[in-house]
Amino acid sequence: MKRRDFYKLILGTTVGVAGVTLLGGCASKISREARDKKAGDPFRCSKCGYLTRSKVSLTLRRCPRCYTKNMVAISEEDMARFLAEEAAKKDAKKTEKK
Ligand SMILES: [Zn+2]
Repeated sequence: MKRRDFYKLILGTTVGVAGVTLLGGCASKISREARDKKAGDPFRCSKCGYLTRSKVSLTLRRCPRCYTKNMVAISEEDMARFLAEEAAKKDAKKTEKK
């Protein structure tokens, strides 16, 4: 194997691993604004479940997490429920590790 090929391989692997980590759920599904009611109305990505808030409509905007145009407006009740669900999932993961 040539040296240049070796570096290409390393670079490819690094980018690949980073990509998988990002798609594998390490990126938070909850934006910093999600819990802040002052940040605007609640929106959710119907593809990956990303939760955020915005004062302008995000409907049909690209999701910052999965980049598909699946953002939909949700109610405050739904937002609270999804936030609780995500928190429960995180707790479940922590318990599994132990
Ligand atoms: Zn998404």
